[in-house]
Amino acid sequence: MRRDEATLHMSARPLLEIRGLDLDFGTPRGRVRALRNVSLDVPAGQVVGVVGESGSGKSTLAFTVMGLLSENADVTAGSVLFEGKDLLKMPVPARRSLLGDRLSMIFQDPMTALNPVRTIESQMIDIQYHEQGSRSEKRARALEMLHRVGIPDPQSRVGAYPHHFSGGMRQRVCIAMALLVKPALLVADEPTTALDATLEVQIIHLLKDLQKEIGCSVLFVSHHLGAVAELCDRVVVMYAGEVVEQGAVRDIFHNPGHPYTRALLECDPGRIRKSTRTLPTIPGEVPSLLGSKEGCIFRTRCRHASNRCVQENPVEYRIGVDQVARCHLLDEERLVSA
Ligand code: SF4
Repeated sequence: MRRDEATLHMSARPLLEIRGLDLDFGTPRGRVRALRNVSLDVPAGQVVGVVGESGSGKSTLAFTVMGLLSENADVTAGSVLFEGKDLLKMPVPARRSLLGDRLSMIFQDPMTALNPVRTIESQMIDIQYHEQGSRSEKRARALEMLHRVGIPDPQSRVGAYPHHFSGGMRQRVCIAMALLVKPALLVADEPTTALDATLEVQIIHLLKDLQKEIGCSVLFVSHHLGAVAELCDRVVVMYAGEVVEQGAVRDIFHNPGHPYTRALLECDPGRIRKSTRTLPTIPGEVPSLLGSKEGCIFRTRCRHASNRCVQENPVEYRIGVDQVARCHLLDEERLVSA
């Protein structure tokens, strides 16, 4: 292969490629199959949203990428390729050295993400341990980043402790720390869930601006469809540990192919046009993930479920150029139009 072809090949490869990932948690009641056959890509420079109800496995997926799983987690199949290397097979020191360098994360609760007994200044200097430069240069970079994320008068605030900041300001500090190292991939796990609606909009706009400036990729986990529509290029829809649909954000939001995606969109408060006192919900509950499952995982809540859905797990069907979903109805539509 010539050098320019090799460069093209390398640049076309997604930054993060997750393939056939199966993950169980060992519990006293049995094995909880938290992720099943999960595959997705995060292309370089793009923002990929992962959506789904609580219990869909989206945060487990984020923690798997970061290598922050609890001891009872067991990856039984699949790979997580980051820049072409499988993170799951990497020696622990090599994997750790990626954190706070090529990979960084924003957590849902900024109070638990920050060390409560150390100043913001010392935490922001420590996070730059991979970087060259003196302490005063690192302090100057920290001040610049705090200013960039909208902390007023960073010079006087940088010596404060996390509890001196409001929730919104603390999350801005966490974003500043995560992006200070200019990561290739930022994993954001529900970063706006603990904030009110006004702050959420501000944080989403801030993340969008900084992602463009730095040029990093983002894996953005959220249950808030409005935030995903605003920020993301692509969307992955998860249900009960499986990816049921994925594609470009405009396709998923305008032409959802899976009944679960349609139900999620119908329940999105941002899309409800009539005034109502009760917000709609998807009838039924996410099934228990204990033990193995047969058939479509969504069948107990799906109004289109048939015998085939009980017996056979649907494969992935292509809907458009950039959209796939797992539902037998798509196979039947394909046969009718053939
Ligand atoms: Fe519903 Fe069957 Fe499609 Fe599953 S495969 S989403 S149960 S129609």
